[in-house]
Amino acid sequence: MKIPDDHPRAECLKIRERLVEGMKEGVVVPQGLIAHGRGEAFDYLIGEKTIPPAEEAIRAAAAAFHVHDRPVVSVNGNTAALCPEDLVELSETTGAPLEVNLFHRTEERARLIAEKLAEAGAGHVLGVEKEHLVRLPEPSSERAVVDERGIARADMVLVPLEDGDRTEALKRMGKTVVAIDLNPLSRTAMTADVTVVDNVIRCIRKITEEYCEMDEREASEVLSRYDNSRTLAEVLRHIRERLGRLAHGLIEGGGEPTP
Ligand code: ATP
Ligand code: MG
Repeated sequence: MKIPDDHPRAECLKIRERLVEGMKEGVVVPQGLIAHGRGEAFDYLIGEKTIPPAEEAIRAAAAAFHVHDRPVVSVNGNTAALCPEDLVELSETTGAPLEVNLFHRTEERARLIAEKLAEAGAGHVLGVEKEHLVRLPEPSSERAVVDERGIARADMVLVPLEDGDRTEALKRMGKTVVAIDLNPLSRTAMTADVTVVDNVIRCIRKITEEYCEMDEREASEVLSRYDNSRTLAEVLRHIRERLGRLAHGLIEGGGEPTP
């Protein structure tokens, strides 16, 4: 579908098209479209830009790649459809492998996602070859199927658009979890060690940039200062204050324009 460039929400519509394309290719499932809708709603509330508390979480996420020995980037259908190049760049820069991990898992779909990443320049993608797949004790969903060379032995996992059950399961296994989730109220957001409340299409490349800016000593300082509950509270305050300004503008005029 051709989206007119002068449409006020052209960017948002183009992103939707990417997901619809991804669905036609077999990379995205219908449930992924619903998850995206929930994300979009929260993006609207934060103002569709990377907000200061997200910048802070992005720095902590970058630091987590430095301080852990075996970080892995978990990839699902939506992220593969939305920003495959950014995922490849993050993986190559940090040395953390990409691993396909799916709630609605079929062998075919896992293969298609790995192909999509390969088209974007990925070398070896984990989570596809049957002989290397193992099942973790939890969660009970297909999310528990992981690669013995990747998430199974990882000490840190980056999980964009994660389900709360798996975040909790990974945490119980003693892994550090870095989540990207536009919903600051989700179980994932609340459970992860670092939660970046931002859109994957904006923040993955920022994590890569921040990674390049810091060394290991700086990274451990960043992480020791970081407090995820405080950062999430700042996100909620940002939303409250922004809505307050918008409400004020509606009544008094001169407020921030709605997106
Ligand atoms: P939880 O299980 O953690 O409570 P949930 O059930 O609300 O979360 P899921 O459907 O399990 O959500 O996962 C999708 C999550 O991904 C949603 O919270 C949604 O806000 C978020 N999300 C969707 N699209 C994006 C995106 N482009 N960037 C970042 N986050 C997104
Ligand atoms: Mg969920």
